[in-house]
Amino acid sequence: MKILIVEDSKSLVAGLIHVLNKKISAEIFTVSSKSECAKILLKEKGKFDIAILDLGLPDAQDGEIVPFISKFKIPSIILTATEHDKSNPIFNNDNIIDYVIKNGSYSLDYTAYVVERFIENSKIDVLIVDDSKTFVAKTQDLCLKYNIKTIPAFNAEEALEIMSKKNNIKLILVDYIMPRMDGLEFTTKIRQTYKKDELSIIALSASKDKSVIAKFLKYGANDFIYKDFSNEEFYARINSSLEIIKLFENSRDRANKDYMTGMYNRRYLFEKGKEIYKKAKKNKENLSCAIIDIDKFKNINDTYGHDVGDVAIKQIPKILEKFLDERSLISRMGGEEFCIITEDLNEKEIQIVYQNIRIAFEESTLEVDDLKLKYTVSIGLNTSYEDDFDEMLKKADEGLYQAKETGRNKVVLFNKEY
Ligand code: GH3
Ligand code: MG
Ligand code: MG
Repeated sequence: MKILIVEDSKSLVAGLIHVLNKKISAEIFTVSSKSECAKILLKEKGKFDIAILDLGLPDAQDGEIVPFISKFKIPSIILTATEHDKSNPIFNNDNIIDYVIKNGSYSLDYTAYVVERFIENSKIDVLIVDDSKTFVAKTQDLCLKYNIKTIPAFNAEEALEIMSKKNNIKLILVDYIMPRMDGLEFTTKIRQTYKKDELSIIALSASKDKSVIAKFLKYGANDFIYKDFSNEEFYARINSSLEIIKLFENSRDRANKDYMTGMYNRRYLFEKGKEIYKKAKKNKENLSCAIIDIDKFKNINDTYGHDVGDVAIKQIPKILEKFLDERSLISRMGGEEFCIITEDLNEKEIQIVYQNIRIAFEESTLEVDDLKLKYTVSIGLNTSYEDDFDEMLKKADEGLYQAKETGRNKVVLFNKEY
């Protein structure tokens, strides 16, 4: 993440850097004039994720920085000393995602908030449900500008189908009037599965009938937008919805995740694992369960101390994540033992993944201060549903036991060694 700040007020820059560092970790570059900006763009090959631009620079006093930087297609937030004149073409520049009026510390916090949302947005998918192709295209453009990925659906049935598959959708924008199933009915259906604190729904309508708003909110929408919205209103509402979802997510994470590694905890593994298990079994999809455990971990603790042991434990998810994607749920079962539930991959594919993981541990060296530590792992794997989720896990654990019994540093598929 690289941020470029073009601003000539030193105190403002210092303030901005301070608030940005509190919220995000990014490389921040600062310049105080258009000519310096040109130099840094050249040096960094125009590669910035986001820019914060002052409209009144010593060598570009009328916002000339905006058309200049837009050649590099860097999404930009503009800082202005006065309430803007909406007719000023600068504000319609395609790369501007928001503007901030410089008045006091709140404006700095707001700027940092926009940057933070911009970064967070890249991890989110928004589903747009509308029978109007033009409206979908317009909304997709707006979202894209704000770093949000979108999935279009041109009717409610298609949208329900998309939602039934594994996805990362945190927000749905749904039109009111659509053929066959309208937005209200769609909202009711979605709320049977997804709660308001995990998925936000914003209803949109061109209808001036105010009773529609109340209905949508009662049926489970989080917010409502009239279709003649300004871009500013659109972003403000999307941001506030996504922010609330994120706050709920943070509090759920505190309950569901292991503090030391950031992976899911044992309680969550059993709760979520059972859900994944049921869905996969019902749809006859591939599902696997693996348990991974460091070999002779007690030796590491005894020889180098508990702190070094902890570093080795924290290394496990880092390596796992190189080989696994969002189809896997990684949880720390306890100590140096992790459990992974993976959807979609068949027996052959998952065996290759775990062999590669095992090799990656064998080949990597963990450096803790001057210490160079090597260790291996054993993995028990099960790709059969068995009778229930607990049994599936138990058989993976038996695979792990066999791996340990037969020499360690291996992957054992339950009942089938390889
Ligand atoms: P094996 O190859 O059979 O797995 O041998 P092992 O020595 O790794 O045995 P085991 O898996 O039973 O070792 C678990 C050890 O992990 C025992 C416990 O002291 C240690 N442990 C558990 N939690 C933590 C932790 O959070 N940090 C550290 N450093 N050690 C932990
Ligand atoms: Mg062990
Ligand atoms: Mg263990």
